[in-house]
Amino acid sequence: MEVADAIVVGGGPAGSTCAWKLRAEGLDVLVLDRAVFPRTKLCAGWVTPEALADLELDPDDYPFSFMTFDELHLHWKLVTAKPASRQHSIRRYEFDDFLLGRSGARVLQHKVRAIHRDHGDYVVDDEFRCKYLVGAGGTACPVYRTFFQQHNPRSDRLQTATYEHEFAYNWEDPACHLWFFDDGLPGYAWYVPKANGYVNVGLGGMATQLKARQGHLRDYWSKFVGRLRDRGLVSYDEYSPTGYSYYLRDGSNVVRIDNACIVGDAVGLATRDMCEGIGPAVRSGLLAADAIVTGSDYSLASVSKISGSGIASKLLERKFAG
Ligand SMILES: Cc1cc2nc3c(=O)[nH]c(=O)nc-3n(C[C@H](O)[C@H](O)[C@H](O)COP(=O)(O)OP(=O)(O)OC[C@H]3O[C@@H](n4cnc5c(N)ncnc54)[C@H](O)[C@@H]3O)c2cc1C
Repeated sequence: MEVADAIVVGGGPAGSTCAWKLRAEGLDVLVLDRAVFPRTKLCAGWVTPEALADLELDPDDYPFSFMTFDELHLHWKLVTAKPASRQHSIRRYEFDDFLLGRSGARVLQHKVRAIHRDHGDYVVDDEFRCKYLVGAGGTACPVYRTFFQQHNPRSDRLQTATYEHEFAYNWEDPACHLWFFDDGLPGYAWYVPKANGYVNVGLGGMATQLKARQGHLRDYWSKFVGRLRDRGLVSYDEYSPTGYSYYLRDGSNVVRIDNACIVGDAVGLATRDMCEGIGPAVRSGLLAADAIVTGSDYSLASVSKISGSGIASKLLERKFAG
């Protein structure tokens, strides 16, 4: 049996951030992830300055693809707004591997299936034992499923459905574009250029609203990529989009039981206006680590529920999560 002070299930931004902080406090930390890193993670790869600050990451010290946008191009019907807003893009394939490596934790490829308690410890798949357990396994996190789901069921109303593809592409437009509610999509579509010749295009919406309209993302997708071509943004013939689902932030959350915590998408923390999940994942990882190390409460009060501010954010929140 392999023993660690803390086991973190999942090596995405939530898990690697938590592991990084636990390691910094001298704990022996083992991260178990079903994937071998670097691994593909479906995500547009938009990161906020706040998330970078939480990660104590200076863009100049980041050795992989990194872009900065000083304004966003927001489209709704025939209206385009270009609010000043400093935001960044990374490639999750690189970013997550970088953060996990930086954490200094031991990392093992292992898909977690069963967890039980034994003399106060947590035993994972009869192979690993720890005092502290952190569930950072995303939407399908086995720690959430085993200990938290019954106390903290997720609301269908807050479930997103997404479709996206990231690929090498010699893009010409260096702006980040978002199109809201095209063709009645209960969400938005995006074009996010990445440094070193990549682009990420995709769309997402609220799953129950899509179902009520009998809409499928596949249908929205074909219209969307047709428009990318018409607009002269992306002309590509080999799309193979994939889907993933995650949850927006709910009101009340049970996120710690004894020495087990859940963080990031395992809780369902994406913002209620823009569906941003990296920043909340990072912040919750820090808070869980702090609670473990200091014995203080693990509270999500400082994890922002919305990405923006002002009337547009309020309207989006009402539309997506209201
Ligand atoms: C299409 C799409 C676009 C998005 N775009 C953005 C964006 O631009 N900006 C933004 O901020 N957010 C975005 N999000 C949300 C964001 O990707 C997530 O909120 C964020 O990745 C959550 O991080 P996490 O560490 O909680 O989970 P994850 O990043 O999902 O990491 C979970 C890890 O757990 C591992 N795992 C799962 N099950 C097991 C198991 N049984 N055993 C072991 N390991 C396991 C997985 O392999 C994975 O590595 C997007 C999401 C999608 C789907």
